[in-house]
Amino acid sequence: MENLEYKRKNVWQEVDPEEYQAIFAYGEAYKHFLDRAKTEREATKYIVKAAEEAGFLPLDQALAKGLAPGQKIYLNNRGKSAVLMVLGQDILEGMHIVGAHIDSPRLDLKQNPLYESENLALFKTHYYGGIRKYQWPTLPLALYGRIFTQEGQAVDIAIGDDPQDPVFYVTDLLVHLSKDQEKKTLGEGIEGEQLNIVVGHDSYHFKDEKESPIKKSILKILHDKYGILEEDFLVAELEAVPAGQARDVGFDRAMIMGHGHDDRVCAFGALDAILGIENPQKTAVALFTDKEETGSYGNTGMEGAFFKYFLEEVLYGLGHKEAIHLGRVLSKTQVLSADVTAVVDPNHPEVMEKQNGAQGGHGVALAKYTGSRGKSGTNDANAEFLQEVRACFKGAGVIWQTGEMGKVDQGGGGTIAFILANQGCEVVDVGTPVFSMHAPLELISKADAYMTRKAYWAFLK
Ligand code: MN
Ligand code: MN
Repeated sequence: MENLEYKRKNVWQEVDPEEYQAIFAYGEAYKHFLDRAKTEREATKYIVKAAEEAGFLPLDQALAKGLAPGQKIYLNNRGKSAVLMVLGQDILEGMHIVGAHIDSPRLDLKQNPLYESENLALFKTHYYGGIRKYQWPTLPLALYGRIFTQEGQAVDIAIGDDPQDPVFYVTDLLVHLSKDQEKKTLGEGIEGEQLNIVVGHDSYHFKDEKESPIKKSILKILHDKYGILEEDFLVAELEAVPAGQARDVGFDRAMIMGHGHDDRVCAFGALDAILGIENPQKTAVALFTDKEETGSYGNTGMEGAFFKYFLEEVLYGLGHKEAIHLGRVLSKTQVLSADVTAVVDPNHPEVMEKQNGAQGGHGVALAKYTGSRGKSGTNDANAEFLQEVRACFKGAGVIWQTGEMGKVDQGGGGTIAFILANQGCEVVDVGTPVFSMHAPLELISKADAYMTRKAYWAFLK
């Protein structure tokens, strides 16, 4: 009997010539996004612009116009998260949601960051999300974020990614003097308070100043360029991320190295899919959330109420004005939690269980559960929903595989899946396998990214 045994498929060995070309074309589109979406604010700008160009209306304009099936609506939530929706025939039948996050691990500036020490000016940082601290020194860094002048004028900072820009840098110990550091564990070798970023060195213009001439010089430059004072940092939101563009990897250019594949590879898949949705039977939604890497808290994270409020507005606009309607919709809604997963790495195969862990180039990965230590803290998808997802993927020719966050008791991880499941939706994690997840520069397969987008498209349409 054929197919008696399950055999995982390799995308590269399954696709036809047309789809083989499409994999590389999609890789180009994704890199374009990645280079313009280095932070959640930059990603939101990109997503909102793309939505507007595709005919999506902001929620208030859509409500004023009157809601109807086929209508495209978006929410820009504080410039840091977004919702895109295409209305189906009857929203009370539930929705199809693909939910990704657009924040990534990085170094945030402290609120009073600038100081001078040992002939350098530096910014103090507090890392954001789960990083391996030893990976961040000696990389070119770019700076992004928003700072307000004394007059209340918002100034958007983006410096380090234009080839003409300077970059920023965290120093590390020279090997010649690292005898003591070498004895420490990887986790202890570089400490959080050592991740200070070099931002200046020149004291020429303040040669008569005894106290902190370099710091004063930097403040002068910042004032001349942005009109800001040192006090303005106290109310700013500034993030340091690796500088530079996403790059193809390998002689065959089959992979992409870049910052923040977690989770922008899934976010772009969700965006590209929903931009092509016209008049769906079921209401299609793409979620782009912030703060996933710090637990999804706050009013831009998935635990925040913004999506619930958005839905309540849409329901009201459609004439479903009873409070009970929200629960009716959510309990009939199906969600792909669009987040990346671990992959079997030839340099570190020992942390993965190969029969269930995702393998590079074998398509988008479906993880029934995440969590750690006995599935703690996870959504655990229902078999009935998994069967529906399998049938959907099969019908669309999506090549997929199972994924899990490593061997039992090796570690683990979480996504936004449990949050929507707690609200009554059917949810399963479906996303791209990533090498070196949470490293400053991560690695993915173009074949897997392509199949991720194809899976979201199949689910939303
Ligand atoms: Mn993630
Ligand atoms: Mn992550």
